[in-house]
Amino acid sequence: MTAININKTVKTTCPYCGVGCGVLATPQPDGSVSIKGDPDHPSNFGRLCSKGSALGETLSLDDRLLYPEIGGKRSNWDSALDLVAEKFSDAIQEHGPDSVAFYVSGQILTEDYYVANKLMKGFIGSANIDTNSRLCMASSVAGHKRAFGADTVPGTYEDLELADLVVLVGSNLAWCHPVLFQRLETAKVSNPGMRIVVIDPRQTATCAIADLHLALKPDTDVALFNGLLAFLAESYSTNDRYINSFTEGFEEAIQKAGPCEIGHVAEKTGLSRQDIALFYKMVAGTEKTVTVYSQGVNQSVVGTDKVNAIINTHLATGRIGKPGMGPFSVTGQPNAMGGREVGGLANMLAGHMALENPQHREIVQEFWKSPLVADKQGLKAVELFQAVKAGKIKALWIMATSPVDSLPDADGVAEALKECPFVVVSEVTKSADTVAYADVLLPAAAWGEKDGTVTNSERRISRQRQFLDHPGEVKADWWQIAEVARKMGFGEAFSYLRPGEIFKEHAALSDYRNSGSRDFDIGAYKGVSDEGYQDLTPFQWPQQVDANPSETRFFSEGDFFTKGRKGQFVPVSYQAPRKLERAYPFILNTGRVRDQWHTMTRTGKTARLVSHIAEPFAEIHPEDADQLGINAADIVEVKSPFGKVLVRALVTERVREGEVYVPMHWTDQFASRARIDAVVGPETDPSSGQPGSKFTPVSVSKKSMDWFGFAVLKHKPAEFPGDYWVLAPVSGGYRLEFAGQGDPNFNAIASVEGTDTADCMRVEDTTAGWSRRAFWKDDLLEAAIFISKNPVEVSRQWACGLLSSDPMSKKQRFQILAGRAPADRPDPGAIVCSCFQVGCNQISEAVKNGADSVQKVGTELKAGTNCGSCRSEIQSQLDDLLKEAMHDADLAQAG
Ligand code: SF4
Repeated sequence: MTAININKTVKTTCPYCGVGCGVLATPQPDGSVSIKGDPDHPSNFGRLCSKGSALGETLSLDDRLLYPEIGGKRSNWDSALDLVAEKFSDAIQEHGPDSVAFYVSGQILTEDYYVANKLMKGFIGSANIDTNSRLCMASSVAGHKRAFGADTVPGTYEDLELADLVVLVGSNLAWCHPVLFQRLETAKVSNPGMRIVVIDPRQTATCAIADLHLALKPDTDVALFNGLLAFLAESYSTNDRYINSFTEGFEEAIQKAGPCEIGHVAEKTGLSRQDIALFYKMVAGTEKTVTVYSQGVNQSVVGTDKVNAIINTHLATGRIGKPGMGPFSVTGQPNAMGGREVGGLANMLAGHMALENPQHREIVQEFWKSPLVADKQGLKAVELFQAVKAGKIKALWIMATSPVDSLPDADGVAEALKECPFVVVSEVTKSADTVAYADVLLPAAAWGEKDGTVTNSERRISRQRQFLDHPGEVKADWWQIAEVARKMGFGEAFSYLRPGEIFKEHAALSDYRNSGSRDFDIGAYKGVSDEGYQDLTPFQWPQQVDANPSETRFFSEGDFFTKGRKGQFVPVSYQAPRKLERAYPFILNTGRVRDQWHTMTRTGKTARLVSHIAEPFAEIHPEDADQLGINAADIVEVKSPFGKVLVRALVTERVREGEVYVPMHWTDQFASRARIDAVVGPETDPSSGQPGSKFTPVSVSKKSMDWFGFAVLKHKPAEFPGDYWVLAPVSGGYRLEFAGQGDPNFNAIASVEGTDTADCMRVEDTTAGWSRRAFWKDDLLEAAIFISKNPVEVSRQWACGLLSSDPMSKKQRFQILAGRAPADRPDPGAIVCSCFQVGCNQISEAVKNGADSVQKVGTELKAGTNCGSCRSEIQSQLDDLLKEAMHDADLAQAG
């Protein structure tokens, strides 16, 4: 990679989660890039989480796609784009506009999204453009539209800080939106009266700051919030002025919710009556209440109803759009909101306009001067790939996402792509599983090379700025789409030369024939100059023409975007989750881990981030593990009718009995079989089309392995031994976990080290079934391989540090074969703080020596003092250790 300007600091935005933190990127003379949080950015005020802080470590070109390819062979832009335009045009001519589709992503910038949507809906004439944001927050969009008449997020991040009660529903904020979590954590310290309630079937890291954790049964949220609505009404805690002046449908919603019978709510949700009553009283008695909700609400076949059940309680209390009050959906991706603004979902139109509204279609067509505008909804993500499988889609363009990993029934998606006559993939990396299915591969610009805007969860538009040159023949996504549009004969409408021109057009459309009738209006920027766009500072919408930039909230005094400008209560009834069949008796829940992002194409490159959790796992409750004969560190198979994975067992009380949790990040690039979306079923919410990724009936069983292995290797192995493997980068090489069935052939397994010129030392006992080998070249370790009949007990952190060690003495060589860290290098244990590489053993030691708070642990070890992402884990460990110490003290006293 080459920098545009060495030593020049560029203000940009983090490409990961929907918090949308401002980043200062400064290319250094040695080719690296220094990354800091932007103290002036109003989303993060200088903070960055572990992922954001490690951005500089993800910019290498090792795996980059640098040139267009046709049929797996290097090509050039003209030939590749000619072919794309020809195949799309042919399909449209022969089979009609609905025979082609785009599948895009919340990773692309608003300008890219705008151009893709304009081409598909305004010029091709189909609405077959959908996005991976469908998997993330489509239920919130649908819920907002039902209640508010538009997809409006009413509040701002500041509301979380101003609230006296923050209810987090289906949101592991500590890991998924870490900087927002830190803002909340800080606010709670300054306002000790603030209460935090976490509603989540799992005990997550977010529970570290919860006053109350409601571990409800999956998909029973509607019962809980309907009960709350009834309780608010019965306890005279509703705001009658707000209800009467600004809303419709209260009586119907109350009727549907039924009377507040806490016993019934307890039965449905599995919560105790006391906890439910406490929660209801907290909400009823706290004016400044914010309800934050995220994927645990959205990723459900009843996701839209959950969203409306939550919103109903805020409409009933008038707690909306006022400082410290409101329902608040936080998005997963950095530009999910930008995608919504440009209409990048199959059921939306540009500028937050509605596809089903003839006047909106007329406005858009008039503004675009387009020959037509799609007049019916396109195929939503899951349906889209089902249509591909059914042969209805003849040409498909996938941008910045890997559907064979992230869509439900992911193996079915892979089958569909194999059968699709023409697949284009615009990608940054060659190491994405979907790349294998492309007829044409187009090299796209990565973070640092892109230029445009993104919108975060609080409607704040920020610039993502370029500070690196485009490597090879890489091009921006908007350019690729505009070129294809020109080649298809739509040149005049796609004659953009730079992203600023697209942004101006997007702003002008938002203002066009608007006059306050639509929520999304950034007309103030429709005449922004090139310099103005370059210097754009973060702002929240709406920003109408001539308005002064200001913090904005919606609906404190009604004025919704429905026909009669009234907010709508949506009567929702509780539907019991489907019954589990005997063959699939567990409920699979999926989600993120703290230091990884999506399919690891960026975060999987940095050893520092991988050190937090290097292997996919299944959290299983101890009672279930006991029944199934599963021990910690066994390999388990999690299986549904759609597919299966092999992952490591993590036996823990963090999950409820009968439930199992597996993270979503691992792909075929990193593991033998851990693509969990191959197991997730394709059932979707009927209103939003969002898949129920947090509720799939599965079976769980122990996969007996005859031997287990662990290795640290300087080189990536050409082949992986055994039936199970997981590869991860470490400083100076790789770590490999593996396991297999049958007699271990130690010599064959050892060939994984990949060099035949190294010195080898080995000790083994084939009868006892263990072997350890180490390989050196020029006194430096090339590989160390440990194989055993049981899961290998070698300290991972110690072993991973060996590859970057200095030349080793004979004694040190023997220590490696002993598989134990020497006394002068104690085992740090599993890494908790990835910034300073502090492990759980070190934290335990510090606590034993008197560090009885997160702050004191920080003073002692620096853990948690940089990005702060690990503070909640340190707190949990501290709580456990202090509890243990008290228990021991009690026992001693009793004895
Ligand atoms: Fe990036 Fe972390 Fe901020 Fe999210 S919280 S935008 S991942 S730095």
